[in-house]
Amino acid sequence: MRTLLAIALIGGVTAAGLAATAALRHLYADPTPEQYLAFIEGKGEIVPAGALEIDGARFSCGHRPTVVADTLDDYAAAYYGFLILNEKRFSKLPMTLKRYVYAHECAHQYVGRGELAADCYAVRKGRREGWLDAQGVDTICGFIGQAKASPRHPAGPKRCEYIRACFSDSPVANTAL
Ligand SMILES: [Zn+2]
Repeated sequence: MRTLLAIALIGGVTAAGLAATAALRHLYADPTPEQYLAFIEGKGEIVPAGALEIDGARFSCGHRPTVVADTLDDYAAAYYGFLILNEKRFSKLPMTLKRYVYAHECAHQYVGRGELAADCYAVRKGRREGWLDAQGVDTICGFIGQAKASPRHPAGPKRCEYIRACFSDSPVANTAL
C-alpha cells in the first residue's frame, strides 16, 4: 500500500493540520521524513528506527523512523513510511497510553487507514508484548471514550467497544473491520 496516510489519533485534526496535510499531498505522493521535516521548517528531528527512547522506554515500529516534532497538532500521527510524535504532548501521557498511541500509529503502517483495525492491532500487540492488561484497556477507553466521531474516526464509545472485543479475542472483532 503506497497511498498517503495522514492520520490523527483522536480525530481532532485542526484546520492547520488539514492545511499541512493538503499541501504535503499536493507536493508529494508520499513524503519522506526529510521532506516532512523541510515542510515544518526543520522544527523537528528524525529519530532512526529503534533509537527512540522516552521516559526510559524504547519505542519502535519495525524499520520505520519517527519524526519528533512539537509542531504536530496531536499526540502522534503517521504517514506511510514513518511516524510523527509530538513529544511535548506525548510525554504527559501515562506509559500505557504512550505504548498504545505509538502502537496505533505504527499499526497504520501495516493495516492501512482503518482506525478500528489500527486500534485492534495495537491492543493485541500490547497484550502479546505484556504492556497491556485489562486495566490498561480501561485506561485506553477513558482516553478515547470522550472523542467525538470525525469523518475518519468512529465515536469513542464505539472504538472502545471494539478495542475490548479485540483484546478478549471476541469473534465480534473479526467481523467489524
Ligand atoms: Zn489512527
